[in-house]
Amino acid sequence: MELLKNRIALRWRRTKIVATLGPASSERKIIEDLLKAGVDVVRLNMSHGTHEAHRAVYAQVRAAAKKLDRHVTIFADLCGPKIRCGKFPDGPLKLTPGEEVIIDPRVDKGGPGLIASQYKAIARDVQPGHRILLDDGNLELRALAIEGDRVRCKVIFGGLLKDHKGINLPDSKVSASSLPPKDVADAKFAIELGVDYLALSFVRTAKDVAGLRRLIARAGADTPIIAKIETPEAMDNIEAIVQASDAIMVARGDLGIEMPAEQVPLIQRELIRLGRRHNRAVIVATQMLESMIDHSRPTRAEVGDVANAALTGADAVMLSAETASGKYPLRAVEMMDRVLREVEGYQWRQGSFLGDEPASHLELDLRDGVANAATALAHDLKLQGIIIPTRSGTTARVICSHRPTAPLIAVSTNESVCRRLALNWGVVPITTTEAEYRDPQTLCRRVARSCDLTRTGHSVLLVSGFSDDVARNAPLLQILRV
Ligand code: PEP
Repeated sequence: MELLKNRIALRWRRTKIVATLGPASSERKIIEDLLKAGVDVVRLNMSHGTHEAHRAVYAQVRAAAKKLDRHVTIFADLCGPKIRCGKFPDGPLKLTPGEEVIIDPRVDKGGPGLIASQYKAIARDVQPGHRILLDDGNLELRALAIEGDRVRCKVIFGGLLKDHKGINLPDSKVSASSLPPKDVADAKFAIELGVDYLALSFVRTAKDVAGLRRLIARAGADTPIIAKIETPEAMDNIEAIVQASDAIMVARGDLGIEMPAEQVPLIQRELIRLGRRHNRAVIVATQMLESMIDHSRPTRAEVGDVANAALTGADAVMLSAETASGKYPLRAVEMMDRVLREVEGYQWRQGSFLGDEPASHLELDLRDGVANAATALAHDLKLQGIIIPTRSGTTARVICSHRPTAPLIAVSTNESVCRRLALNWGVVPITTTEAEYRDPQTLCRRVARSCDLTRTGHSVLLVSGFSDDVARNAPLLQILRV
């Protein structure tokens, strides 16, 4: 009996897996294999590839998901105001500690003592004494003087600088537009394609999110937004950013350059707590199984990193180059799946998925109060599942933030709502017809049986009625015997 309960509860992994698709994973066969291995969410990275290539991959993912009868979230990750250096026509530039170099936005080719910058306003944003980090922070300069549009710098940590490497300005207030022209074009393309979310890079304030929201509305869509948290400025404005967004990503790659790397683990934990408190999904991203880009097995530290993200309550964990361009995309997903299931099996046996801190809210609002009660009820009465008929997905998002132990099935008439819910912790989205939706009790009993959640005499919990509009909240909890 105990074994059966284990099997039913853990049939669905709760922590979702995001895979970035790229050259190593754009063919139909590998896409299908990745979905079968447990990918719930696909990321199209607009920093690489053409629109035509993304369109083809998008179609393949949708076709594979349909064949497998699965709801899969697809999101387009916009580049944001990422600053890059120009080209070095004579080969990589050697930077030696102590030497001086000029960063010049008026040229597009660099050479000895000269780095071209694609960012025109660099001399306006940087001040003497500021750090200028190159190539993911592997090389470091310090600004000595501003000379018109150019910045004179001293090399602190040297090495070889190659074409188009990233420039990070952790000490400067970057004034670049939050939606550069490339992002506007990419966002319009991705909305037309029908992606389920847009991810916005280098978010600094809630206004950046509002800007993208306006663009989406002008395109006649309501695509939700994932705010990528990767700058100190975002951390200064984090509460407002989380409220303005629909989900957040702990973008540890740039975050660990823009801020001291040793602060990233605790920031990650704080962001997971914050996301849960505001019922926003949190994706933990970057370098999760990095060594699997080249090796068939991860380091033990990477396994610990994935496990820690799940233990502390992340909604989703993300693979980047591991699946986009690595040698072992499928093994990386299989590995991630195994680590998450091991952790969740442990949590299940402990009787709680709450992580290191309950999602308790200091002052519970109506929805969270009801969600708390629903979670406790399902646990204490050993109900076999929580079934949520939902039009917008809101009820499912609120309930999942409370990390119930019972399986969580969201039923909606809207395919798009189902696809978006595939990102949220523990939610198993299922589509239904309008006629079925109008009789929620019969619907829930049917879903419970078809999901093999109950045997005769067992009960499930029906929850519905949460709204983002407080005045329209009409929560309903009902225990249904099957
Ligand atoms: C990151 O910086 O961690 C990240 C996810 O962003 P990108 O891969 O676009 O640099």
